[in-house]
Amino acid sequence: MVQHFETDSRQMLGRLRGVMAEDAAGQQRLDRITLLIAEEMHTEVCSIYLFRDEDTLELCATQGLKPESVHETRLKLGEGLVGRVARTGKVMNTDDAPGTRGFRYMPETGEEAYSSFMGVPIQRLGEMLGVLVVQSRESRRYSDEEVYAVEVVAMVIAEMAELGAFVGEGAAMSARHQRPVLFRGATAQEGAARGHVWLHEPRVVVANPIADDPARELERLHEAVEKLRVGVDRMLSTAASGDNEQLKVLEAYRMFANSKGWMRRMEEDIARGLSAEAAVEKEQSTARARMSQVTDPYLRERLHDLDDLSNRLLRILTGQGAETGADMPADPILIARNIGPAELLDYGRKLKGVILEEGSVGSHAAIVARALAIPLVIHAARITTEALNGDHVLVDGDQGLVHLRPDDNIVTAFRDKMAMQAQAQERYASIREKPAETLCGERIALHMNAGLMADLPSLAGSGAEGVGLFRTELQFLVRAHMPKRAELSELYARVMDAAQGKRVVFRTLDIGSDKVLPYMKAVSEPNPALGWRAVRVALDKPGVMRMQLQALIRAAKGRPLSVMFPFVAQHEEYSQARAEMDKAMERERILGHPLPEMLEVGAMLETPSLAYAPDRFYEEVDFLSIGGNDLKQFFFAADRENELVRRRYDTLNVSFLTFLEHIVRRCAAHDTPLSFCGEDAGRPIEAACLAAIGMHVLSMRPASVGPVKSVLRRTDLQELRAVIHAARDAGDQSVRPAVVEYLKGKL
Ligand code: PEP
Ligand code: MG
Repeated sequence: MVQHFETDSRQMLGRLRGVMAEDAAGQQRLDRITLLIAEEMHTEVCSIYLFRDEDTLELCATQGLKPESVHETRLKLGEGLVGRVARTGKVMNTDDAPGTRGFRYMPETGEEAYSSFMGVPIQRLGEMLGVLVVQSRESRRYSDEEVYAVEVVAMVIAEMAELGAFVGEGAAMSARHQRPVLFRGATAQEGAARGHVWLHEPRVVVANPIADDPARELERLHEAVEKLRVGVDRMLSTAASGDNEQLKVLEAYRMFANSKGWMRRMEEDIARGLSAEAAVEKEQSTARARMSQVTDPYLRERLHDLDDLSNRLLRILTGQGAETGADMPADPILIARNIGPAELLDYGRKLKGVILEEGSVGSHAAIVARALAIPLVIHAARITTEALNGDHVLVDGDQGLVHLRPDDNIVTAFRDKMAMQAQAQERYASIREKPAETLCGERIALHMNAGLMADLPSLAGSGAEGVGLFRTELQFLVRAHMPKRAELSELYARVMDAAQGKRVVFRTLDIGSDKVLPYMKAVSEPNPALGWRAVRVALDKPGVMRMQLQALIRAAKGRPLSVMFPFVAQHEEYSQARAEMDKAMERERILGHPLPEMLEVGAMLETPSLAYAPDRFYEEVDFLSIGGNDLKQFFFAADRENELVRRRYDTLNVSFLTFLEHIVRRCAAHDTPLSFCGEDAGRPIEAACLAAIGMHVLSMRPASVGPVKSVLRRTDLQELRAVIHAARDAGDQSVRPAVVEYLKGKL
């Protein structure tokens, strides 16, 4: 097989390598390349078009067309045959170019004389860089062999572009990876950050796309694939047997690693003169290009798997691991396609921000980013292909925007925004020790939400009065194995130590729905958010809850203890959970451990049903905390993770506020302490409204305590209450416009 293809394309690549090695300017290189391709292909014309901006192609070099048209002829994406190749990413091969739909006559090039046309996309890992065209006067379709040869050359040109071989005058030849790029993603954690790129998985650089010893390259490929197979088999044998998702991915890896088609294509690429790594990358590019066209989610996932596998293979071949020897910048902004919670936690607080190509608002990584209080932008499509380690980057977590390699104007505007935020921070620091007392003299207690030991220093820094919600599941989510009781007890004790006597409300394990433990058998449910989650799991399989309650009692070492159960939907669930707590206390007493001097056991109100629970429930429960994130999704039947609907219904919608007022009244009637701990408690306008309708304990992200306190201290809740009621009486859908008008100047 090697001999069979050992013809023109190897010779062409050999000459191309010569051009690459020359010490020449970018334009000169492009000119030589078009000349050599035209000669090798025996065609009259060879042209290279490159993108000058996102949707304009520019003729950058030509052999055969009029030289004056170079850098003058431009085409929009989709325009003419060249524009069509760029848009579809597919080869076009025709013996009658002028008669082909979409042909556009460009007199300045003198191209009407050419009948045959072959356009091949110049693309690298799914990123379209330009189009390589050959044309000839004689009317003929180019053979498959010829198409393949030009594809291989186009791939090498793409690699050369990546290595900066064609830098020259003008936008189309400006150095790649130097242009500013704006990414519009979605926000998963607010905040602004400025820093330098740190790629979670740095791109493998293929320095030698062309090789002249195919036999040696084949050997290298086979060795690397063998290593890859062994590695995948090892991962499969050690994978957690209950984790269906992981097994599915690994099975797909194994399938690809043993795929004959994949191997054959790479072997053919090598036979044509590519190095082993260039062959892997060529197939990876094809898969990426396909990925952008495929809409079926299952197929897309599998193409992603193939992409991951190709990366692994490239790392084996080049010896470039995640550890590339680069130094992490002092102000790193992490960029990844996706990242697990444990990996993110490993980076910890040194990160200034995180940008993901994928991710979701409710993902574990988002939960950790929230806990670390660093801005997180998700769905920043293609950023891992654009960004290079060390690039300057601005993250606007409020708007979900990312400015990569920003120009000076953007930097100035952004700096102003950050300076304003810093000023505000100073203002917040100055009121840190002051109470959140409103103009009308009402005191609102502001607590913070936490989930990691690393959060505790914020307790003093933010001015929060305590921890209103400690999400214990984070400790479970970031581990590869179920934590042991002693470990948990030690951790909870350290949390209480760090809180120095301030109240910490520990929420028992809230798993299920989006939070799936890697080491627990996953249950497939049609509607996980409405499914077997939180206290429902705890009551049906009480082993873990019992262990956790015991760990909490032991951690308290006689100190006061506050525990609450998540997602209680009816009285009986609370009674059963409470009975477990009582049993745990009794067991500890018998074992001779000290019992907490005070124990309060609360419930989270996260489903509308609990708002209408019998009076007895309100009398029995020690306190209630509204989990607004969940409560809102069930109240409006709008999935909190679904971008299509999650912002559709406003928290300040009259019906939701009226519903919350109902809960406030019921709690007041039974003297049941009430707090609110969803994300809305940390948004100043929402927080002021919650306080106005009688919610006097709010728990929020530490960074929100200052802004919320600042607004509350400048607000008269009685007036605000009147504004809310007036808007409701006027029939408004949301009280927001009226409230914003009233609060103008106070924010
Ligand atoms: C909530 O639902 O509002 C809540 C605080 O819990 P979580 O966001 O962890 O589900
Ligand atoms: Mg919840």
